[in-house]
Amino acid sequence: MSDVKVRFAPSPTGFMHIGNTRTAVFNWLLAQKLGGKFLLRIDDTDVLRSKKEYEDAILDILVWLGLKWDEEARQSARIARYDEVVAKLKAEGRVYACYETAEELEVMRKKLMAQGRPPIYDRGALKLTAEDIKKYEAEGRKPHYRFKLNPGVIEWDDLVRGKIHYDAANLADPVIIREDGSYLYHLPSVIDDFDFKITHIIRGEDHVTNTATQIQMFEALGGKAPQFAHLPLLTGKEGKLSKRLGSLGVRELRAEGVEAMAICSFLAKLGTSEAIEPFYDLQTLAESLDFAKIGRAQPKFDEEELKLFNHKFVRQMPYEKVKSRVDVDESFWNAVRGNLNTVDEVHEWEKICRQEITPLIEDADLTKKAAELLPPEPWDENTYSQWVNEVKNISGKKGKELFHPLRKALTAQENGPELKLLLPLIGRSKAYNRLMGITA
Ligand code: GLU
Repeated sequence: MSDVKVRFAPSPTGFMHIGNTRTAVFNWLLAQKLGGKFLLRIDDTDVLRSKKEYEDAILDILVWLGLKWDEEARQSARIARYDEVVAKLKAEGRVYACYETAEELEVMRKKLMAQGRPPIYDRGALKLTAEDIKKYEAEGRKPHYRFKLNPGVIEWDDLVRGKIHYDAANLADPVIIREDGSYLYHLPSVIDDFDFKITHIIRGEDHVTNTATQIQMFEALGGKAPQFAHLPLLTGKEGKLSKRLGSLGVRELRAEGVEAMAICSFLAKLGTSEAIEPFYDLQTLAESLDFAKIGRAQPKFDEEELKLFNHKFVRQMPYEKVKSRVDVDESFWNAVRGNLNTVDEVHEWEKICRQEITPLIEDADLTKKAAELLPPEPWDENTYSQWVNEVKNISGKKGKELFHPLRKALTAQENGPELKLLLPLIGRSKAYNRLMGITA
């Protein structure tokens, strides 16, 4: 086992959607490819918005997708550790108390914007005297805390975006603790990544600026920042995908019969220079992972495209990959899979072949003759063509006039898998009765 370790860090404030699922997939695949570990970290410091229901649903989807985790951590259980780090950073002057209200900060922001300057916090709090602080506290103001950035250039080599530079002078000191004492995402995330020895962080490009400030936090902890890969965000028809917008949930896709591996295959290749092809196991998909092939443009995610891809995925699905979920044998699966949009639809064909149906008789003369011409069993894939040739010679019918009435009598359907494959599955006795117009 290598020392590679990645993490997927969902906030349990919503259901898994296609955007954070993609992040989970890339992290898992990288760990798999490099023989490393995958940590699941629940970012539940926002007590008001975090819900057990969401957390359970996230875990359920990860299990369904096959993205098993080696370790699990929970931020709400690590507050004492965060407090300890903050005490140290306060003593070192890297974390400082601020007393501005949200309204005051907003006024300052607007003023700077009006002057055509970037809205960067002016560190007014660092100039407060003991007197000022006393006055604020007497007014009942509670401090929030910021992390003080050091001057200089912050740079890293991003696995997707290449070399990135930020001048710390252009960044605001991030707020890390709210007035009510609760932690914002930035610092706990770094403390965890440091403590759990995370080697690679793969996440959406909406975190690029956070990364710049977090690199300084890693250094403040006495560590070195891990490798970063920022994935271009997916865009949907309604703009950016976000769980808050109630974008497409993976639960819904699952309920509609979209396969877990179809989702993983699709998300792993969307926006890359490779074609989106079905992969039937995560190991093979992991071997194909290559960050150099991820494009910089924001890929469009289209639900319809995913569903069409799922049809292709199911139609080519090897029996091996589906046998634990269906109660048909391999020849049955191979006969019907080419007509399935979802795996569940196999049950409809199972019913048609094995249970009673009422045949649809379109040309009674023809189907009666056809019934009488049915050869004795055993039947195989060649039975149909020999039989249908005889029916054609005797009836003088051909093309649609011949095939359509046979199909409707045998299956009560307009379309479906090739009759040469279905006929042996239906068997002689049912086929005979159905061609005679009898429910069988
Ligand atoms: N909980 C954070 C989020 O969902 C994690 C971000 C990260 O990967 O660092 O955005």
